[in-house]
Amino acid sequence: MRVAVVSDIHSNVEALDAVLAAADEAGCERLIVLGDIVGYGPDPDAVIERLRERDAVAIAGNHDLAAVGVFDVQWFNEVATIAIAWTSEVLSAEGTAYLSTLQPTRTTADGVLVHGSVRDPVAEYLLSADDAGASFDLGDFVVAFFGHTHLPTVFRRRPDGFVNGWVMTEGEAIALVPGERYMLNPGSVGQPRDRDPRASFLVWDGERAIGHRVPYEVERTASKIRDAGLPEWLALRLFAGQ
Ligand code: ZN
Repeated sequence: MRVAVVSDIHSNVEALDAVLAAADEAGCERLIVLGDIVGYGPDPDAVIERLRERDAVAIAGNHDLAAVGVFDVQWFNEVATIAIAWTSEVLSAEGTAYLSTLQPTRTTADGVLVHGSVRDPVAEYLLSADDAGASFDLGDFVVAFFGHTHLPTVFRRRPDGFVNGWVMTEGEAIALVPGERYMLNPGSVGQPRDRDPRASFLVWDGERAIGHRVPYEVERTASKIRDAGLPEWLALRLFAGQ
């Protein structure tokens, strides 16, 4: 069965709709969401509705926990803090209830799900092979999926313990090699940061993961951000993919 693995949607419903359409086209029957469903963007409730409709297997990211008051915004930059305050204010009771049910980590038949890392599921930015190695050492998982950095990334641990990592390109297929272990980041749906503004996600079939990129109407999301009175930078960065 094919699964769409997504992360860091950040209240961007235009990007999410484009990804869901592409996932349907690719034959995905299920949806895994690695957190940061809300924050930064203008449509928290619409995004949550889509996830509920699809019965997504989801975990919480730092922004989701902050929006429902269980993660301290002292760790957030100013723009993120403003967006979290706005999100908490506009979020419906159903939306708040949905986010409140999410755990920071889950073990599924597809793999371990975390937002940051296995070592620190909520807050660690996994950017180096050394840091990934610490997470590999903490579990015996074959595959873990993570998000948080907004970069489509692969970390691979060979049987001899050597860990390397790289940024995934569009269309790249990562096929599991027996004995090796993997940590896979699908990149961000709603706020990519690899200088490619297109929404990013993975199609996973239990044996291999393929990186996908999908264009969406950035202009529409950006004008909603402005209309909501959210910081201008949150609109501008979407065009640049940073
Ligand atoms: Zn994020």
